[in-house]
Amino acid sequence: MKALVKKKPEPGIWFENVVEPTCGTNEVKIKITHSSICGTDLHIFNWDEWAKRTIKTPIIIGHEFCGIISDVGLGVKHYKKGDRVTGEGHITCGNCRNCRAGKTHLCQKTLGIGVNRDGAFAEYLIIPETNVWRVHDEISSEISSFFDPFGNAVHAALSYDMVGEDVLITGAGPIGIMAVAICKFIGARNIVITDTNDFRLNLAKSAGASQTINIQKNNISDYFDELNISNGFDIGLEMSGNPDAFKGLLENMYNGGKVALLGLLPKSTLINWDNIIFKGLHIKGIYGREMYETWYKMTQMTRSGLDISNVLTHKFPIKDYKKAFEVMQTGQCGKIVLEW
Ligand code: NAD
Ligand code: ZN
Repeated sequence: MKALVKKKPEPGIWFENVVEPTCGTNEVKIKITHSSICGTDLHIFNWDEWAKRTIKTPIIIGHEFCGIISDVGLGVKHYKKGDRVTGEGHITCGNCRNCRAGKTHLCQKTLGIGVNRDGAFAEYLIIPETNVWRVHDEISSEISSFFDPFGNAVHAALSYDMVGEDVLITGAGPIGIMAVAICKFIGARNIVITDTNDFRLNLAKSAGASQTINIQKNNISDYFDELNISNGFDIGLEMSGNPDAFKGLLENMYNGGKVALLGLLPKSTLINWDNIIFKGLHIKGIYGREMYETWYKMTQMTRSGLDISNVLTHKFPIKDYKKAFEVMQTGQCGKIVLEW
C-alpha cells in the first residue's frame, strides 16, 4: 500500500510503497479516506529536536483520520466492514491504575499512532477496536478527520464552567480557533484570543471571538474597558506553547481564575509565580482527549449546531502532500486535509 513514511532521520517525508498490514485479534482495519495534518506531523517533517528525541525511523506518520472499516479481527464486537469511523490515536495500556479507574487519558504508558507506532497517513490503518469512534451520518468525513485536535480543544474548554465567564485564549492555531467556537457554543461571555498571525486571528474572529488581538501590536488589557471586563479573565486557555503568551495570560487573569494548559511550553519557560500564588489560580494540564466522553461531546455538540468548519482552509489530494506541508510551514492556514 501507499503511505507517507518518515524513512530516514533527516528533514522530509516520503511517499512509499509499504507492506499492507493485517488485523490481529480485537483490531480493526480502516481504509483511510481523509488524513488531516497536525503540528506534530510538521515537527516530524522538519526533524526538529523533539522529533529526533521521539521518533524511531522508519515509521508511517499521522494520527488524524477518517475512513471506512475494511476488515475486523477476531473478537471485534461493535464494528463491521463498511462502517465510517475515525479514532483515538492514543493507545493506552488498559492495566495501569488510571486505565482501570476509567481515566484512560491519564494512562502512564500511552503510545501514539504516527509517533510511537505506524500511523494514519496510509491507505490502511490498524487500531484496537476500543480506539475506534463511529462517525455520525450528520457529520462530514472532512470534519471528523480532525476530531483529534477538535477533542483537544473540547477537553480544555469543558474543563471549567464557562457560562457567563470572560475567557482569554492565547494562540489562534487550529486548536485555539476551534476553542473559540466551543466557548461561544457553551455560553462564555467575552472570548478574547491572541496571536501574532493575522490570517489566523481572522479565522478566530469568524469562529465567534469577541476580540482578536495581535499581540505584537496591542496589549490585552487595553481592551478591558471596551469589553466591560473589570478585573481580568475568569478562564484562560493557553494554546500557543509560547512562554510570552503564557506570561501574558497569567498577568491578565482575575483572582481565583482557572487556567488550562494545552500548548507545549519549553522547559526554559519562566513565569512570575506571584501571578499564580497570590491570585489563587487553578491550573490544569491538558493532554489528549478524555476517552471517550470528549468524543461523545464532540459528536453531540456538532450535531446540535457547533460549527467548526471554518477552521478547515485547505484540501489536497494525497499526491500533493508536499504542497500541503509547504502551506503548513507558512502558517497561513487552519486545518489542512489530505484526500486519499
Ligand atoms: P499551532 O502551532 O498551529 O498554533 C500555535 C499558535 O500560537 C500559532 O498560530 C502561533 O502563531 C501562535 N503564537 C506564537 N506566539 C504567540 C504569542 N506570543 N502569543 C499568542 N500566540 C502566539 O498549534 P495547534 O495545532 O493549534 O496546537 C496548539 C498548541 O497545543 C501547540 O503548542 C501544540 O504543540 C499543542 N498541542 C498539545 C496537545 C496536548 O495534548 N497537550 C495536543 C495537540 C497540540
Ligand atoms: Zn494505562
